[in-house]
Amino acid sequence: MVTWYCRVCGLDYDESPWGPNENAPDHSICECCGAEFGYHDHTPASTRQYRATWLANGALWFYPKLKPEGWLLAEQLEQIPDMYL
Ligand SMILES: [Zn+2]
Repeated sequence: MVTWYCRVCGLDYDESPWGPNENAPDHSICECCGAEFGYHDHTPASTRQYRATWLANGALWFYPKLKPEGWLLAEQLEQIPDMYL
């Protein structure tokens, strides 16, 4: 079950890397955008800044082998939580 979406790129996760109360980031790396949870997505402003850089660099997957067949960037971006847009 999907319970969390990356604030930077919108990738879906089964568990929040910010912990059950959204206040204890594990500082793992988003497999898609490469953001460090708890650092790059710490505030809406830092999230937007990291996203802009990631998009400007071609929106490449941090772990290319995990990129799904037929992946669509636009669809994933729609999953970003509103306050981080
Ligand atoms: Zn991400």
